Amino acid sequence: MKKEDCIFCKIASGEIPSKTLYEDEDFRVILDLGPATKGHALILPREHAADLFELPEETAAEVLVLAKRIAARMRERLHCDGMNLVQNNGEAAGQTVSHFHLHLIPRYQDDGQKINWVPGECTQEELENVRRELAE
Ligand code: AMP
Ligand code: ZN
Repeated sequence: MKKEDCIFCKIASGEIPSKTLYEDEDFRVILDLGPATKGHALILPREHAADLFELPEETAAEVLVLAKRIAARMRERLHCDGMNLVQNNGEAAGQTVSHFHLHLIPRYQDDGQKINWVPGECTQEELENVRRELAE
């Protein structure tokens, strides 16, 4: 189902033009308008889901298979040295467009980008408490 006024729905359906690298019945892969590096692309499911939490499991599984294919193409044709997959969910996590998308960011030696976090510190006890909260 398409969500009115969702820009990625409109791009995925072709209503708004984009630099499309790949499309099939379920997905469109486009170049990001503000690329972090050369080749920075976004995988968009055609079906609207705001984020990972709303994404059907079947689509979630297909996304990674598609990412692997596109990443291989990028390595072959752009000769990138590495690849970051980034997927933001919620404002707190930096999501700015509320339609699930997976970033493929080709990385080049010394490309100057920083797609990292600051490592924290915690005790074994704290780790164990979190593990208990999360483990089944
Ligand atoms: P996020 O912060 O994970 O929600 O990422 C949104 C991404 O979408 C950003 O990298 C933007 O540069 C990109 N973006 C926003 N609007 C467009 C658009 N119309 N076409 C292509 N990329 C877009
Ligand atoms: Zn949408």
